[in-house]
Parts: sequence; structure tokens; C-alpha cells
Amino acid sequence: MNWLYRISFSLLILIFISPFCKNIQNTSYDWQTFYEKSGKLETPRYKDTMDYFRRLAQASSIVKITQFGISPEGRDLNLFIISKDQSFTPQKAQKNGKPIILIQCCIHPGESEGKDAVMMLARDLLIHQKYPEILENLILTIIPIFNVDGHERFGPYNRINQDGPKEMGWRVTSTRLNLNRDFVKADVPEMRAWLNMFNQWKPHLFYDCHTTDGQDFQYVLTYKIDTHEDYGGAVSLWAKNEFLPMVIPACEAKGHIIGPFAGLVDERQPEKGLMGGVWRPMLSNPYVTVRNRAGLLIETHSLKPYSQRVKATYDFILVGLQELAKHPDKLLQAVKKEDQRASELGKVFDPSQKYALQYRTRTDIGDSLVYRGYRFEMKKGDISGTAYPVYGNEKWDVPSVLFEEVESTVAISPPLGYLIPQQWTRVIEVIKLHGATIYRLAEDLRGEFECYRFSDVKFRSFPYEGRQLLTYETNLFKEKRTFKAGTIYVPLGCAESKIIMQMLEPQAPDALVGWGFFNTIFERREYFETYVMEPIAQKMAAKNPKLMKEFQEKLVADRSFAANPYQRLHFFYERSPYWDREKNLYPVVRVTEPLDVKFIDE
Ligand SMILES: [Zn+2]
Repeated sequence: MNWLYRISFSLLILIFISPFCKNIQNTSYDWQTFYEKSGKLETPRYKDTMDYFRRLAQASSIVKITQFGISPEGRDLNLFIISKDQSFTPQKAQKNGKPIILIQCCIHPGESEGKDAVMMLARDLLIHQKYPEILENLILTIIPIFNVDGHERFGPYNRINQDGPKEMGWRVTSTRLNLNRDFVKADVPEMRAWLNMFNQWKPHLFYDCHTTDGQDFQYVLTYKIDTHEDYGGAVSLWAKNEFLPMVIPACEAKGHIIGPFAGLVDERQPEKGLMGGVWRPMLSNPYVTVRNRAGLLIETHSLKPYSQRVKATYDFILVGLQELAKHPDKLLQAVKKEDQRASELGKVFDPSQKYALQYRTRTDIGDSLVYRGYRFEMKKGDISGTAYPVYGNEKWDVPSVLFEEVESTVAISPPLGYLIPQQWTRVIEVIKLHGATIYRLAEDLRGEFECYRFSDVKFRSFPYEGRQLLTYETNLFKEKRTFKAGTIYVPLGCAESKIIMQMLEPQAPDALVGWGFFNTIFERREYFETYVMEPIAQKMAAKNPKLMKEFQEKLVADRSFAANPYQRLHFFYERSPYWDREKNLYPVVRVTEPLDVKFIDE
């Protein structure tokens, strides 16, 4: 070739390829993620992660990044939206009619497989245009890192039980709270932002990506999605009958050993069974269940190499989305049906209607399963002074049983709604955060209501998630009470009925009262002087022989009472008009008859 010919040829080539320049930068090398470039050994920091998603958003017109909040350390909480129809707002997405999927990563930042898997999955969908049926039928929303501040406490020593990545984030937030215990109480700004986002998007299916430790076994990935009709209604039935039976074999066909996320009854004897059951809504996936949506927990096993865990997470999410893309209507219908079922709760007050607050997992009935463990031997620990298991490589398939059946142990009749005196502002804020519609009384209201009084109140001696928790017995009774104008009314008969009862019924496992939102009602505020109380007690005893008899019987029956002068006077004090009746009394009441009162719109 002469030089003129060479230049002309090169120019021709350049002219020819220039319209495709956008594609040229889309070579597979260029779109490799940080994780892939590291030889699948490392996971990116916050900035690298968001930069990669920003590049995806620049390269594709069907992607948008939005911020749903800011962390206490000032980082954006990003939601990455992929919608073929550019339905980038919750309103548009809901009108669009396709299932909305939320994939959440790094609620526990040290457990970063989800983040690395969704970076590759988003790239494969958008740049390599793989699996087109997914974007054809679904709207994807992704939180690459939820606990952004915890994520940036980055280091090699954050997960002692875990095999890689090289360095990773820290489990809790910058104020040391575990986001995956905060879904009901919503103590941290990250969670409050998340709940606002969730209320708007109302995703039909939610993935939460984690890594578990515990005993060593063959499973690279374990999963949990609620399958109890009583708890999650049509959505749980969808998970049990439609979703899992398709997704599990599809994931296994890709070569992964997967199994249910359920603890062994006895870690040394797997044949005794695995405990499934219903979980508390303070955790992500059960929270989503009580909001009438499907919540899928992924827990890869910490001892498997990082690349194997990322691949299993990628494939498990992928096959789930592929399955969903085939039958999007089934999930949409299940969610609609469960929204309707929740709306029936408390629509009218019917004492025979029951809503379960607590469950027990039955161990008399279960599904047989082969537990896929590793053989281990017990070794004497020179330091601990006791035996500990040392797992080998020999596979140990043990015929066992999965206990999933539950029965309710505490159930209540849903009321029409609850009245909350307006001064309990933090409680009211949290109720609103969970999507409840509230009303304010425009005038005073007198009526008979169902009330709770607490007894046998015991506080924990150590904080849990920064709160002083307590246990108590409840006594339900009817009483006439007056509520002032300004009192908040929270009606049921809506899609949020279940979460409202989970917060306001004291026997619910994550009741706000149990989390310590009302702790001041348990503190005594007034005390008597003995020289004042003695004459009052004498007068009361003289006036009321029945009371005196009761007192004398107690003196005989209870020697420590008889020996305690203060307690003897206290016996009369708590039966006198000076006694604080609001102590141990729940300020929130159950409304069981329609309210005849004017409201101010909130
Ligand atoms: Zn976790």
C-alpha cells in the first residue's frame, strides 16, 4: 500500500466507525467492574460504586439515578432505576403496570456480594443487552449501598468469620445502629429516608442481600421468603407455590448448592431438623411482608470464596427476575389481593375477626429435606477449655426435616383504629413514616374505648439497638375516656392495617411500647411523706371496713409486706385519689365503635 492509499483507507475506516463510537467504549473490558478487574477478590468503595452506576446512567437512556436521602455523614443514598419505558418516578412506574423490583445491597456493608453482583447484572442488562425479557416486563430499582456510612468504615478486619473480599465495610451505621433491626422503630435518618422511598415506590418484590456465618455447610447460598398464608396472604402463597418452585431448580441448574435459611435445632445433630417460621417485622423481608409485598432474603455462606458467593447471588437474582418476567401478572395480582385483605382488617369491628401478632413454629409437623453439611470432629480447645467443631471437606448429607408450619399464639380483633394523644409526637411521626393516613380531632371526644394497662413490667439491664427494652403483661379493659381536640386518630381498614397493628398493639413483637417509645409511663412521678399518709390511711381504713379487712389479710399472708412500713402505707396510697392512674396505662386506645366527631385534615 502506498502512503496516500493508507491514509485514505484509515480515514474511510474512521468515517465508517465514528457513528458507533459510543459502542466502541462499550467493549467488555471497558465495562468491567472494580470487582472483576481485581480478579474477583475486591469490592469497590462508595465513590467507585456510584461512579460506575453514573457511567451506566450516562451510557443508557433507560437509567436514572435518584437520591432518596442523605446519611448522617453527608453521603447520598442513591436509588438506581432501570425502566425501558423511562418510568423514573413512582407515579409513572405504578401507572406503567409492570412489577417494580427493589434490589438492596449492603444494608450490612461487610456483606457486599449483592453490590458486586448487581453492578455486573445492571451492566449485562444495559450494555450487553442480555436477558431482554427482564427489562421488557419489569422495572428494576437498585440500592447499591444502603448503609453508606458503615460502608466507608472500610478495612480487612471487619468480618472475622468471612472469606473475602480483601477489605469491606462495617456492619452498623455511623451511630452504631443495625439498619436491619430498625425497620419498625425507624431510629436512624437512613431508615426514615428508606421508608419514605418505600411508601412511594411500593416495590412488589424486594431482595435484600446478605452473608451469613454459623455452622459450615455445602450451601453457597441460603434464602428466606415468607410462605405463610396467615402472615403474608396471597403474596406468601405466590412465593410458596409460584416463585420458589421455579427459582430453586433454575438456580441449582446453574451449579449452585442452595437451601433454605433456617437454623439447626441442634448444630451438632442436623437430623433433629431446621427451624423456619415467621420473623419479626423489625427485619427487612418480614417488614415488606407486613406491607403486603414479597421480601426475599439472600444469605450466602461466609466461608465460600468471595467469587463463588457473588456468582451465586448474581444467578439467584437473575433466575428470579427471569421467572418473574414470564409471569409478571401473578405477582401483581397477589400484591393487589393482599392489599385488599389488609384493607378488610378493621373496616368494621368484628370481635370474631382475628389478626395474629405472635406465632410459634410447630415441631410436630415438617417437610422432609436432606441437610447438606460437612462432617466435623470435636477438638479440645486449649484456650477455651472446651470442645469446638472442626469442619472437614467430607460432604455429609443428612436426612432431616424443615419446620415451617406455624400457629398463632397471640391474636387480637382488629379495632376500627387507634387514638393517640397528640403529645406523643415521636410515636405519631413513626406511624406516619409507615404510610398510615392520620386524622386530628377538631373537637374533644368522650366515649368508651378498649384500653390496656401493663403489669409485671421488667426492663432489660443492657441497651439493645440503643434502646431500653422491656417486657410486660397486658390487661385489656373498657373504659370511658375523654380525648382532647388535637388527638390523632389512626384508622385501620387500609393497606397499612397490618403494620399499624404491629406498631400499636402492645403484644406485637415489635410494638413501639416494647421498643421503649412510652417508657415514661412506667416511671412513678409522685411520692408521699409517711407523716402525711399515716392519717389518711387511718381515715380510709375507718371508713371502709372491707378495705381494712383486705389490708389485715395481706398482713397475715405476706410477711415481708407486714414488715415494711412504707409498703403498708403504700397499700392505701395506691387506693387513694392521690394515686397516679396514668402510671402503667397505655395512652393509646382501641376504637371499636365508629367515631362521631369532626376531624382536621392532616
Ligand atoms: Zn447481614
